[in-house]
Amino acid sequence: MILLENVSKYYGSFKVLSHCSASIAKGEVVVVCGPSGSGKSTLIKTINALEPIQEGSITVDGIKVNDRGTNLPRLRSRVGMVFQHFELFPHLTIAENLALAQVRVLGRNKEQAHQHGMKYLERVGLKAHAAKHPGQLSGGQQQRVAIARALAMDPICMLFDEPTSALDPEMVNEVLDVMVELAQEGMTMVCVTHEMGFARKVANRVIFMDQGSIVEDRSKEDFFGGGSGHSERSRQFLSKIL
Ligand code: ATP
Ligand code: MG
Repeated sequence: MILLENVSKYYGSFKVLSHCSASIAKGEVVVVCGPSGSGKSTLIKTINALEPIQEGSITVDGIKVNDRGTNLPRLRSRVGMVFQHFELFPHLTIAENLALAQVRVLGRNKEQAHQHGMKYLERVGLKAHAAKHPGQLSGGQQQRVAIARALAMDPICMLFDEPTSALDPEMVNEVLDVMVELAQEGMTMVCVTHEMGFARKVANRVIFMDQGSIVEDRSKEDFFGGGSGHSERSRQFLSKIL
């Protein structure tokens, strides 16, 4: 489903990603963790071409992300992305937020888009809030809307970049619960998160990054099992966050 082959990226002369390779199968849930500045956000942004790469190749569902001929809006419409900050449009209602890209990018008519959006809003438990504006919802609710908005595009996979790290602690679980459900339904997911409870519950694999490199890519059991083969850096990292 998602294939990264020998991906390197530079900001000027600074090598932010160095020879990263990973393969994520359909239905797999991969958690990406690692110290601040290790390149996690940059790595997942390369998957939907929000960040260009200089070397290597990335394929999503057979589409070569970095080919000149690739239709990027179409690719991005199929790869859902949820960031740390929910980035809802503040001047639109929740229902309008959900419908907008469906109409603009997928060409759905307004009524179709509204109905489809409502389906996902219900799924994240917020149907009653459809007519409100984002500012009237809590951070956790807004993040659930952001997830519903991404799902309303019928993505083939979902990318998450620390979706809970800007939330007050009491709101973290309501967002993680939605993500756990999604994982259990078989969505292909790449999640940058330090929520190791989430990783333990639903991840198939854990990728550990350090200084732009994928240092470890292991099954969850192996990663948390504390078996041999942990790098010194990941050992230190885990001891800090667990
Ligand atoms: P965090 O855990 O703090 O979110 P991260 O692992 O997501 O960190 P990135 O945001 O991918 O790390 O950044 C990786 C490195 O690239 C950092 O050293 C960062 O300073 C650098 N970087 C990120 N964006 C840019 C940019 N637009 N221009 C130059 N350097 C950048
Ligand atoms: Mg980041």
